[in-house]
Amino acid sequence: MIITCDMAMDLVSLYKDGLASEDSKSAVKQHLKICPDCRKFYAQYGSQKPFNKVNIYDAPSFDLSDKYSVLAKHMRKRHVVSTAAVIAVIAVSVAIGIFGTIKMLDASEN
Ligand SMILES: [Zn+2]
Repeated sequence: MIITCDMAMDLVSLYKDGLASEDSKSAVKQHLKICPDCRKFYAQYGSQKPFNKVNIYDAPSFDLSDKYSVLAKHMRKRHVVSTAAVIAVIAVSVAIGIFGTIKMLDASEN
């Protein structure tokens, strides 16, 4: 499967956290073979935030739910972004609708 750099970078976090599916893992591996930029990103990912890594994996209270909280956090972030996009599209549609109605009313009055 061919993936873009953006997709590869999204998947690298799941890959490195051990949460990626087999398909995602193989897609990332394939992409890293052909893309030096993403290889660099992959090599640096995690080392830029050692504090988080230590918190997640070396905390005494570590259990499987911590792994899922990482995934949940990741999903929530995406949910916020997609919700914001939907709200923006709705706002633009409403604005166009109001503008169109005003134009129509103006035209019918003249
Ligand atoms: Zn790439």
